[in-house]
Amino acid sequence: MTDIIKEDNENILNTYKRFNVVIKEGHGSTFTSFDGKKYIDFSSGIGTNSFGACDSEWVNAVVNQAKTVQHTSNLFYTEPQVKLAKLLCEKTGMKKVFFSNSGAESNECAIKAARKYSFDKYGMGRSEIITLENSFHGRTIATLSATGQDVFHQYFFPFVGDFIHTPANDIKALDEKINEKTCAIMIETVQGEGGVNALDSEFIKHIDKVCKEKDLVFIVDEVQTGNGRTGYLYSYMEYNVNPNIVTTAKGLAGGLPFGAILFDSKLENTLSYGQHGTTFGGNPICASAAYSVLTRLDDKLFNHVKECRKYLENKLKGNKYIKSISGKGMMVGIELPDGVKAYDVAVKCMENGLIPLTAKSKIRLLPPLNISIEELDLGLDILLKSIEEVIK
Ligand SMILES: *Cc1c(COP(=O)(O)O)cnc(C)c1O
Repeated sequence: MTDIIKEDNENILNTYKRFNVVIKEGHGSTFTSFDGKKYIDFSSGIGTNSFGACDSEWVNAVVNQAKTVQHTSNLFYTEPQVKLAKLLCEKTGMKKVFFSNSGAESNECAIKAARKYSFDKYGMGRSEIITLENSFHGRTIATLSATGQDVFHQYFFPFVGDFIHTPANDIKALDEKINEKTCAIMIETVQGEGGVNALDSEFIKHIDKVCKEKDLVFIVDEVQTGNGRTGYLYSYMEYNVNPNIVTTAKGLAGGLPFGAILFDSKLENTLSYGQHGTTFGGNPICASAAYSVLTRLDDKLFNHVKECRKYLENKLKGNKYIKSISGKGMMVGIELPDGVKAYDVAVKCMENGLIPLTAKSKIRLLPPLNISIEELDLGLDILLKSIEEVIK
């Protein structure tokens, strides 16, 4: 185990502050490290392993496709892509899909499509995209530019222009930023990396309305909130709004690198031959994995996610170590007592056999969507015990 850590440090770029754990294998909501220690998983990767680790239905989908054909270029038609795209359109009412490999790529595609829509209809100069302060949209230069956090706007100059950031939930401030150069508004309904903050529903509905009135492209970044995470297939569905573009990735293929961009009737013909592409996007193994995930994202599962949320809130609310609980469904932010660092609590949780995540100053939980109430309960006990130990 120490060899793996040493050789990682020697050979892999040091861009991550890794925990001192080497994961060997996982099954369901349990991971095992090389030294045989077991962990309850409250992370799902980072919201990727929608049905936990090595779920048998998911494994079958992946293995069967790997034995059939692992890849063909996008110059050919393939069945897994078509089945998945059809099901995505059926379940969302969107008109067309483009497949990518990641969240950042999904957002890149959305940004390109929004600007082209505006250019086609209104010509040059209408290219501003409004995003929110504290948002996170990815690590490419364009998606970093879209991301409304100053810490991400360093070193890599020049960034992409015409991204305007406005505070979340401030309708007046948003309206003041919309002008004749605006072409799109992009939001996460729950800001994940920014600290698991759910937007107000009036704010989301206002964006929907203003985009319709002014022919702006309404983009919802569902990379983290999507695919059942909040107790809805896509989180926007809770609000009775109609985004023009929905981007997703993380949980879509249950732990394989995959993303999708969904377009409504306004945008479905905006990108055409030669204007966008990818070598791996839509890969048959990933598409088969995603199809198997998507067929299981049904009301029964969404009810389970909502039940887990209720259970968690009942258990944690009023506890002296929990200042507040944020987020939606199984996308949970936990505000810790003053002076208690989320990172220290996360390290203590690992010592005690629980894998959590952090987001800003909060503990963030993204458990597998099918975690049992018993596992959830056990994990929450470990979390509370760990906070207590850090305080002492
Ligand atoms: C994780 C995330 C991204 C970036 O996804 P990658 O797959 O890491 O490129 C973009 N937007 C949101 C909301 C995310 O949570």
